[in-house]
Amino acid sequence: MKIAVCIKQVPSTNEVRLDPVTNTIIRDGRQSVTNPFDTYAIEEAVRIKEKLGGEVTVLSMGIPAAESMLRDACSRGADRGVLLSDRAFAGADTLATSYALSLWCKDAGLDLILCGKMAVDGDTAQIGPELAEHLGIPHITDVCEILHIDETAVTVKKVTSTGFSHVKTPLPALLTVVKDINLPRMASIPGVRAGQTADIRIYTAFDLGADLDRCGLAGSPTQVMRTFVPTRDTNAIEIDGTPQDKADAILTLFREVK
Ligand SMILES: Cc1cc2nc3c(=O)[nH]c(=O)nc-3n(C[C@H](O)[C@H](O)[C@H](O)COP(=O)(O)OP(=O)(O)OC[C@H]3O[C@@H](n4cnc5c(N)ncnc54)[C@H](O)[C@@H]3O)c2cc1C
Repeated sequence: MKIAVCIKQVPSTNEVRLDPVTNTIIRDGRQSVTNPFDTYAIEEAVRIKEKLGGEVTVLSMGIPAAESMLRDACSRGADRGVLLSDRAFAGADTLATSYALSLWCKDAGLDLILCGKMAVDGDTAQIGPELAEHLGIPHITDVCEILHIDETAVTVKKVTSTGFSHVKTPLPALLTVVKDINLPRMASIPGVRAGQTADIRIYTAFDLGADLDRCGLAGSPTQVMRTFVPTRDTNAIEIDGTPQDKADAILTLFREVK
């Protein structure tokens, strides 16, 4: 079984800095970690490989520093890494990101693509479904258990707004996973060595035959008008009077702040 796991490098949560001019997150590779949801996707892919055989490729679009994240994934059982890295990809919104990822995936002969449920910085949960659409394959989001998988189909348990449902789809397909699906393993010492020597290939937009009008800022219809850190007002007001007076005052306050 040929499996690709899409993984994204995200700032560790206290380190998010925004570019005041472009309104995008400043990503210089410092204090970055693997998107937490993606660690569950890596683990699930490795478990499937251990059961059915095959190969796990971790795939990322990002800056050159993302190579260390791919090596870390290889120390946890992935076989090789692919990094799509090019100035032409900079400023990509989800549409342009999923387009670039699809260019590598379409010729890779994949049976299964796994993604995290969402990235903890961008938070859109759009990449998985968009990537599946670019490739013309089915997708199932929010998978919390793989009930059965063979070379032709996968049956999963997925989280819904009212509980769970079981869904079966033919392969190739794309799944996005939630954190209840497994407990990711730690890297072993031989694993760390394997990660250090793993084959990590870097692809540019040219290598992928990308249409530059669909890449990076040029291929991104999303416009960020403004970004800001929400302020927290913690003004305390003391209200005197009878319980009725207090209730009236609170009601007035609620109406004022709508
Ligand atoms: C106008 C605009 C400009 C932007 N400019 C930049 C920029 O210059 N540089 C930049 O890094 N970001 C930029 N972004 C953010 C970027 O578009 C998103 O981070 C990216 O598309 C993924 O979306 P998300 O974070 O919401 O991921 P989600 O859709 O929430 O992620 C879901 C899953 O998709 C997979 N995934 C997500 N992103 C990647 C990836 N890059 N590689 C592999 N797998 C992935 C992971 O499995 C992840 O768990 C920009 C966004 C906008 C709107």
